[in-house]
Amino acid sequence: MPSCLNCNRTEQEYPLIRLTYQGKELYICPQCLPTLIHEPQNLADKIPNFIPPHEQ
Ligand SMILES: [Zn+2]
Repeated sequence: MPSCLNCNRTEQEYPLIRLTYQGKELYICPQCLPTLIHEPQNLADKIPNFIPPHEQ
């Protein structure tokens, strides 16, 4: 079942946003989306092969 890549909340619990990355589908919940936008380095270990941009 799809679940948030960060907090593992499932689509049964909350609406999820579907992402694609390197041909794979990932899901994230709205609560975790700001983390992906503003602090992607915090998700680097959650997304295979993901190398976030360096902090400005
Ligand atoms: Zn989440």
